[in-house]
Amino acid sequence: MRTPESYDLVVLGAGSGGVRAARIAAGHGATVAICESDRVGGTCVLRGCIPKKFLVYAAHYRESFADAAAYGWTVDAARHNWGALIRAKDAELDRLNGIYCRLLDDAGVVTVMGHAVLLDPHTVQVGGRLLRADRIIVAVGGWPSVPPFPGNDLAITSNEALSLAERPDRVLIIGGGYIAVEFAGIFNGVGSEVVLAYRREQILRGFDGDVRAAITEELRAHGVDVQVGLAPERIRRTGDGLQTTMGDGSTFLGDQVLVATGRAPNTADLGLEEAGVELAQDGSVIVDDQLATSVPHIYAIGDVTNLLNLTPVATAQGHALADTLFGGSARSVDLSAVPSAVFSQPPIATVGWTEEKARASGRPIDVYRTSFRALLHTLTGRDSKVMMKLVVDREDGRILGAHMVGDDAPEIMQMVGVAIRAGATKADFDATIGIHPTTAEEFVTLRTPVAEKEGAFAG
Ligand code: NDP
Repeated sequence: MRTPESYDLVVLGAGSGGVRAARIAAGHGATVAICESDRVGGTCVLRGCIPKKFLVYAAHYRESFADAAAYGWTVDAARHNWGALIRAKDAELDRLNGIYCRLLDDAGVVTVMGHAVLLDPHTVQVGGRLLRADRIIVAVGGWPSVPPFPGNDLAITSNEALSLAERPDRVLIIGGGYIAVEFAGIFNGVGSEVVLAYRREQILRGFDGDVRAAITEELRAHGVDVQVGLAPERIRRTGDGLQTTMGDGSTFLGDQVLVATGRAPNTADLGLEEAGVELAQDGSVIVDDQLATSVPHIYAIGDVTNLLNLTPVATAQGHALADTLFGGSARSVDLSAVPSAVFSQPPIATVGWTEEKARASGRPIDVYRTSFRALLHTLTGRDSKVMMKLVVDREDGRILGAHMVGDDAPEIMQMVGVAIRAGATKADFDATIGIHPTTAEEFVTLRTPVAEKEGAFAG
């Protein structure tokens, strides 16, 4: 074992959060090393957001080809080549991995490849190298977690689903969260038969009730067989594919079973607890408002904290932490109104409070909601509706939350997020002139609140 190399900062994990923290800290003049046991890039670039979005784009074409006929186009027998998609996606991921590596090099960050373990609160071992750190940032992310049931090793997770050698004809997706819903759209779009099996009564728990109802209806209208009240009991291989038996005895045959039942923080075998870093029961690193762990010079950012598992949150935390520790400007990240999206087909986007959360707060609210067929589909006749909704504080008129299910929802909601952060009121929305004809203009033309007694969105 060599004598330790000394750094102002050692970052564990070269995903989006870790790379941002390392680069910014180095830019402030700190000596920085970053450790990575896989490839530089992390979940978002290599196994999540980016490759997923390529597959979402691919899936969307099927609907576009079908709709094109209503606009006078003849699209002859469109066929999809799954292998070509995966190759194109992989080539782009290689390019992005190269960019990330170069960004680190250019910033003067030392990249150390291999599994990092804390030997003590200031010493990190990576293979034969010892890194002595004044400060440490844990940014090791998470990994798909698969429930323990017989045959679960026959299932795949989102990691494998992004790189299957062949497009499966029949896919069973287990789970009703972000990943389950996104992959249901992907496989359905490229022509697989898709069953999505969720254990409770309505998918996307935690989202606004109208969003949950609307996306369930849209998924079904697009051909996804959404089944609820079903949890897997076992999977076995048969001559006709993988047979999954559910708790109620029902069975499903598929070529692939995708388990999307959540992700767990990557905190095993890092020596964190031995170094005094307190972990929560789910394995996540417990941090305070300043992202410090129970060991004052060790910090954690991103999915490993299980606070809000979104890439832009991790990068914002990494940036703020580097500025605070090495840039002389202490700042934290406000997670109160973070816009987010589910890239389902159609997509969902949301920012701020759900109606349920607003009602639970006890404050008087008004709810504005619309559901309509987008102009595009007045010619195609496609039975697809856009749902848009504002949750408004009745007393001061502030927009507490905005929700949308429909094409371009994520692109629209990013800007609604700015308005909500700026404290926009319903009157500000009303006074804003719409862009016509767009779907987004509906957010500034919602005039009449939904009557109190009216039930949840019914389609
Ligand atoms: P989620 O936590 O979003 O959803 C997990 C789903 O699996 C829930 O429907 C849950 O049901 C169900 N589930 C959990 N345990 C079991 C079990 N033992 N048996 C059957 N069902 C089970 O996890 P995901 O894996 O979808 O995504 C992980 C995280 O990654 C997300 O929360 C999100 O933060 C992030 N992500 C963000 C994306 C984006 O921003 N577009 C895209 C993909 C991921 P129940 O509701 O009953 O708990």
